[in-house]
Amino acid sequence: PETLTVQELANRMSERAVDVVRLLMKQGVMKKITDLIDADTAQLIAEELGHTVRRVAESDVEEGLFDAPDAPESLKPRPPVVTIMGHVDHGKTSLLDAIRQTNVVKGEAGGITQHIGAYQVTSPLGGKITFIDTPGHAAFTAMRARGAKSTDIVVLVVAADDGVKPQTAEAINHARAAGVPIIVAINKVDKPEAKPEKVRSELLQYEIQVESLGGETLEVEVSAKARTNLDKLLEIIQLQSEILELKANPDRPAEGTVIEAKLDRGRGPVATALVQRGTLYQGDIVVAGSEWGRVRALVTDQGDTTPEAGPSMPVEILGFNGAPEAGDRIAVVENEARAREIADYRTRQKREQAAARAVVRVSGLEQMMS
Ligand code: GDP
Ligand code: MG
Repeated sequence: PETLTVQELANRMSERAVDVVRLLMKQGVMKKITDLIDADTAQLIAEELGHTVRRVAESDVEEGLFDAPDAPESLKPRPPVVTIMGHVDHGKTSLLDAIRQTNVVKGEAGGITQHIGAYQVTSPLGGKITFIDTPGHAAFTAMRARGAKSTDIVVLVVAADDGVKPQTAEAINHARAAGVPIIVAINKVDKPEAKPEKVRSELLQYEIQVESLGGETLEVEVSAKARTNLDKLLEIIQLQSEILELKANPDRPAEGTVIEAKLDRGRGPVATALVQRGTLYQGDIVVAGSEWGRVRALVTDQGDTTPEAGPSMPVEILGFNGAPEAGDRIAVVENEARAREIADYRTRQKREQAAARAVVRVSGLEQMMS
């Protein structure tokens, strides 16, 4: 079967694609740089150019990524990663902004933080907390669909003047499916028409019993607008995270998840990532989805560069060759050849899936015309 393009073969050997084309031509095979060639031809060319060829089963390409367990004694406490969910207009963005601003004001002067899709604050009890700050549930769902559990705690925001709504229920289901504990934040309690009691009783229908009703779900009444009880919310999050005993091994090659990624005009591909275990260093070689790169710089939520990022730390990664996708898992690999091999494999997979979809579409068309 035809498995890779001339360009990809050249990349893997660090040869020029034109040289590969020329060699193919000598063998009587006419191919363009973007054409696909089969594995046997690729091997022939590689050996002709003096490379040693190691043929691996496609299924072996990703072997060793993500599956190495950490010894229990290597695990150290790590901050919780929190996602705020809830119905539209119930105050998710306001709450995230209020928490961040409060913390920034307390911290450095200036008070200007850049938006990188996630940020870390310090709770009044002294522990760090990472908030994922992506609009809507899209990122959360995408990450889960890709098998990456990237959230430890869900803060369920319910507006006290509106009560439990369809997206509140949806958020509860998402959290349950992911096996993530929920903390209830009853928001907008500054409003005269606020009815926090009503929210508590409505939640019972979804089998969420808050502490003040004798249940086990932690809760807090807040106002993002009046900045009421934000410290209390942070304390409760830290409490919940202590119950969870969250740990990770910081002393291993980093693994993480892409929270969002974009092509920045000045800086090139930029991926906001959450490190989940290990420590990511400037200079590391990373793969995410079908993209790879050497980490040129790591930038914190405060806009500072940092030489390293440990577990639960959100960080911008500069140096990818292309922008990966939200939800892609990131792994540090030993060298560029390995990174290329994995990225190429995934590119091929994507291409084959796209081709399969195209065939389905064409056959559907035929049916319509017959
Ligand atoms: P999201 O859709 O859940 O992200 O909700 P937003 O944060 O965008 O808030 C929706 C609206 O509710 C905005 O007009 C906010 O100003 C307002 N809002 C958010 N939190 C509060 C609050 O604590 N009190 C009051 N009175 N209004 C709030
Ligand atoms: Mg919002």
